[in-house]
Amino acid sequence: MSDKEYAEQQLSKLLTRINQAAQTADRDPKDICLIGAAKQQSHSRIAAFVNAGLKDLGHNYLQEALLNQTHTAERDDLNWHFIGHIQSNKTTTIANHFSWVHSVDRFKIARRLSEQRESKTVLNILLQVDIDNEPSKGGVAIDQAVDLCGQISQLENLKLRGLMVLPKARSNAAEQSKPFAQTRELLEHCNQHHGLAMDTLSMGMSNDLEAAIKEGSTMIRVGTDLFGSRT
Ligand SMILES: *Cc1c(COP(=O)(O)O)cnc(C)c1O
Repeated sequence: MSDKEYAEQQLSKLLTRINQAAQTADRDPKDICLIGAAKQQSHSRIAAFVNAGLKDLGHNYLQEALLNQTHTAERDDLNWHFIGHIQSNKTTTIANHFSWVHSVDRFKIARRLSEQRESKTVLNILLQVDIDNEPSKGGVAIDQAVDLCGQISQLENLKLRGLMVLPKARSNAAEQSKPFAQTRELLEHCNQHHGLAMDTLSMGMSNDLEAAIKEGSTMIRVGTDLFGSRT
């Protein structure tokens, strides 16, 4: 199978899964954005998926993202999402090479992104929440999320859009649903508490996207089940 056929087939499989999950949840599939989590994938493979119609790419590693941006420089219709751990000495580059950052978990990082964003358009921000109390994965503690939302929502050049979570693996859909439901409730609480209108939940990956869609996910980040195994 050519790279092109592979990409078209994988993308179509994933879109079918999204459509089915949306239908089961009585939701409009148009409200769910598929982000290709592209870490450790070759740029030829990523390019094949972009040519097959994938418009949103998520990266954990800045250098990989910048290389892939160079390789697709002729395309101005792609959305780049930063989804990995953020070091404070990388914020200038992140602020100016992405339209979404999913992994903000400290005020200091948000303030730097705000100060360093040069574009006149706002940078969309998601607060990563440590929903399973696993500090090694990053994310703000649940009991600090409301305050941090309030602080970040005041910053210029940023638009706080919602929450992102990376729950631990669970073996069945009922268990997978719990942290996602908790995240949705936290978003509603933050909105109510601060009078915000956050509209985005970035949750769900290869193994739990159906449960995430059922609980209201609007962005799923899929690596393995889209691109194939990582190099
Ligand atoms: C790798 C990664 C994903 C995708 O994981 P898969 O299980 O390969 O679908 C999603 N989000 C983040 C933050 C990741 O690092």
